[in-house]
Amino acid sequence: MAALPDSKPTPMMAQYLALREEAGDALLFYRMGDFFELFFEDARTAAQILDIALTTRGEHGGAPIPMCGVPVHSAEGYLARLIKAGCRVAIAEQVETPDEAKARAKREGTPSSKVLVGRAIVRLVTAGTLTEEALLEPRRANVLAALAELRGTVGIAAVDVSTGAMVLEECAADQLGAALARLSPSEVVVPEDWPHGPEEAISRPRNSFASDAGAERLKAVHGVATLDAFGDFSRAMLGAAGGLIAYLDHVGRGKLPLLLPPVARAAEAGMAMDAATRASLEILESTNGGSRAGSLIGAVDRCVTGAGSRLLAEDLSAPLLDVAQIEARLGLVQFWRDRPIERAQLREALRAIPDLGRALGRVVAGRGSPRDLGQLRDGLSEAMRLHHWLSGAPDRPALLDAVLAKLTGHGALTDWLSRALVPSPPTERGSGGFIADGYDAALDELRATSGDARRAIAAMEARYRDETGIATLKIRHNGVLGYFIEVGARYADALMAPDSGFIHRQTMAGAVRFNSLKLHEEAARIAQAGGHALAAEEAHFEELVAEVVTARHAIAATAAALARIDVAAGNAERASEADWCRPEIAEDAGLAITAGRHPVVEAALAKAGERFVANDCQLADTNRLWLIGGPNMGGKSTFLRQNALIVLLAQAGCFVPATAARIGLVDRLFSRVGAADNLARGRSTFMVEMVETAAILAQATSRSFVILDEVGRGTSTYDGLALAWAVAEAVHSKIRCRCLFATHYHELARLAETCEALSLHHVRAREWQGDLVLLHELADGPADRSYGLAVARLAGVPAPVVARAKAVLEKLEATRTATGGIAAGLGDLPLFAALAAEPAPASPEQQLAEALRDADLDALTPREALDLLYEWKRALPKTKH
Ligand code: ADP
Repeated sequence: MAALPDSKPTPMMAQYLALREEAGDALLFYRMGDFFELFFEDARTAAQILDIALTTRGEHGGAPIPMCGVPVHSAEGYLARLIKAGCRVAIAEQVETPDEAKARAKREGTPSSKVLVGRAIVRLVTAGTLTEEALLEPRRANVLAALAELRGTVGIAAVDVSTGAMVLEECAADQLGAALARLSPSEVVVPEDWPHGPEEAISRPRNSFASDAGAERLKAVHGVATLDAFGDFSRAMLGAAGGLIAYLDHVGRGKLPLLLPPVARAAEAGMAMDAATRASLEILESTNGGSRAGSLIGAVDRCVTGAGSRLLAEDLSAPLLDVAQIEARLGLVQFWRDRPIERAQLREALRAIPDLGRALGRVVAGRGSPRDLGQLRDGLSEAMRLHHWLSGAPDRPALLDAVLAKLTGHGALTDWLSRALVPSPPTERGSGGFIADGYDAALDELRATSGDARRAIAAMEARYRDETGIATLKIRHNGVLGYFIEVGARYADALMAPDSGFIHRQTMAGAVRFNSLKLHEEAARIAQAGGHALAAEEAHFEELVAEVVTARHAIAATAAALARIDVAAGNAERASEADWCRPEIAEDAGLAITAGRHPVVEAALAKAGERFVANDCQLADTNRLWLIGGPNMGGKSTFLRQNALIVLLAQAGCFVPATAARIGLVDRLFSRVGAADNLARGRSTFMVEMVETAAILAQATSRSFVILDEVGRGTSTYDGLALAWAVAEAVHSKIRCRCLFATHYHELARLAETCEALSLHHVRAREWQGDLVLLHELADGPADRSYGLAVARLAGVPAPVVARAKAVLEKLEATRTATGGIAAGLGDLPLFAALAAEPAPASPEQQLAEALRDADLDALTPREALDLLYEWKRALPKTKH
């Protein structure tokens, strides 16, 4: 931000500038009465983003101070927009009342006219640390991640602050991009001067990422002596956890949000997908504008709760590798699929359940409202009702029993909340009125007292009218005077008389206001009883919050269980809508999909009243690679993606859009599109294509599934064909994984001569009466021609241009016939396998020498040096060879 002008500031300006300095790169919301005010550059930025008036107030250094403000009661909406626009906001609240400030001034000997109410930054509002309903998207998790590196291994601590769910994991530095793509954090925190984090990451002091301190902080948060019960955490993970908690401490100014016990995620826990694959498969958002519409989740999600949608997003982001776990999820989907009537009842019940996890998050973070407590009461009661209903259901799958066990056990808490709270508690707790009558006799008494007094005042009004004969006399109330008696100006004289019993308070245009001893007494009774009642309600609120905090783990488990039930019932609903099938999961490297469909394309076509043509895909060890040709717009990309999505859905535990599917577990899924336009990110499209292809060749295993869409398209014909040829060969003969390869290079068909597990396929098209008819149907054998000119005509290229292209094409084809085409010389190319032998790997001794040479001894602590020695010793073979 621009430097502030320099001059001797007023006390308020001095306070503001100190807070402004402390707020760092955040905008400063400076509390003044009922407004948060922003000044200087902050005001300019906020006024522009929020589209509110920019005014000025006073001056500083001879220039007017730009200012804008937002009302405190509607601040959340403005905060949401600022956070969305990428800002961070520091909230500076008044931390003492004017009376306290005056008392302080007296103690300090400052003249009370100069005293300023103390203000402090009580919280930083950042994208990754939100808990407020208004600032969060109900169907999207909001993840904050912290990273820490220990000798090439990156620890990742990720938490959804809104629900407290925390995961610790680690990965090699070069896998960080993939891990972050899976987590999709809205904010990332890294140690300062660490070069590997994402560009927009927040840097924090290095010492907060120390692993020992991290372990201590975790233990302290959870009140345990050892972390063993939570899982096995590496030092990199603990370092990241330490950095994460320290950051939360920093933004919450010492107040931590809800943190549930950390869960360790093993590196190989799920199907691996890199960032490019996720983007190209459009799992959670479409590449077109980044919205849910047009994405896989947009086409699959039928959850009726926000928590369900968030869990489904998690499932789709991290498909499983464990057959038993996948089958367990599928079993639960099947259960609901087979029971349409109960499913409808269940979904009706779930729909009414509030977002328990987020209400809990707010309450534990100290930002809860009576309404949040009411939501917990209602949600937990409903969970117990579901438990009662479902535990009687016959043929329950194992996963249902496991989640049902988590729905119960809240009887005492819900009873307490039900007795204590009114049916619909308010979101504001400051004005009371949320504790139910009959819960606290003393509170009832106070309420009765103020009720009596109110009635007494009403009676007093009637009596005064009688006594004075002024029919328009009124007893009214406002914030400044409290209760007062008001009469029209022309009646005032009688009341002004010294013995009238009325005391003059205020003369207005047309009306005069009075007090009376009796009125004063009753008003005091109301004020006192009201004050005591508020204090009593506040005390009950704190008690209830403490009870919820004690039960937080069980409540979070209930919320998670409800989400799992919602996801399964939603998947069942989706499956029954369009006859999706339960996939069979196998441990071999086959893939057999009958009549598979693309969920997103099918839905889009259905909207336009068109039918999707289902296609089969049969890959096996002996027929691993399908080379798919055919015209542009013929449906190649759709076919490739639908099969990748079916694999992904199956391993996420969902039913799939096909009539039958047998999925051999896929360890890594890769999806590449040739020359996707990525210029915005500063690399040429072809470079991106090659970087992504290189990653497949480096990382794919024989258990992987790769879809390659027009790889090689982004360069000249010769280069492109040569690369496509070599990549296809490498996938076939070296990696030996399942692969669908779409290409417009006819010449690649010759690969079938040498690659025994490669077969040729094409999407069918026909030219009929001069028009191109795309059948979107997959057939065996090579494509006969590419129909490029027909597609051009279809797309509206003017007839003379198409005619000219036809003439050029005829010339080219004549040359091809004469020379044998551009692939003519490839007949005597030696086999790929013969070329692909790599230099022998280095021996353990050579590797050790290499490691020793690379080690930066000065940068190691004695402890790290010792660890390294042990590691090297372990790496050496036991006996000499
Ligand atoms: P290609 O990759 O061969 O250029 P696409 O897969 O992009 O073709 O498909 C182009 C369009 O054809 C899609 O947007 C869709 O509207 C339609 N399409 C693709 N596959 C099918 C199908 N199986 N059934 C019906 N329409 C399809």
